[in-house]
Amino acid sequence: MMTDNIFLKIIEKKIPAKIIYEDDLCLAFNDINPQAPTHVVLIPKKVIPTHDEVTKEDKELLGHLHVVAAQLAGQLGLTDGYRLVINCKEHGGQTVPHLHMHLLGGRGLGWPPG
Ligand code: 5GP
Repeated sequence: MMTDNIFLKIIEKKIPAKIIYEDDLCLAFNDINPQAPTHVVLIPKKVIPTHDEVTKEDKELLGHLHVVAAQLAGQLGLTDGYRLVINCKEHGGQTVPHLHMHLLGGRGLGWPPG
């Protein structure tokens, strides 16, 4: 398991990020390269490199991420809806090897993705 990545450095406050939420299990911050008016990255503090590595042990943690995402969407005023995205590995477009959920909103989003 990879023990070093840019998101771990954000968790450890070794590099700055605009953190909008934190608890014992997860952290949310504004994406450095936003793809929508609201673009939040929500990460577990546990290192899970990709969605492929998710196990039954992670059920509560992943459920927690969804609950927090819904809370944040409400706080951020995304009343017209939003999109949650988890990119997985090369074909999914994942660039940071630490499982994360994108919370995107503030405009209509196209489908299908490119
Ligand atoms: P992925 O492409 O792996 O699904 O998403 C990684 C996301 O992390 C990208 O949207 C990228 O802009 C964002 N990101 C990468 N490095 C940093 C950083 O140092 N700070 C912040 N706030 N976001 C980052």
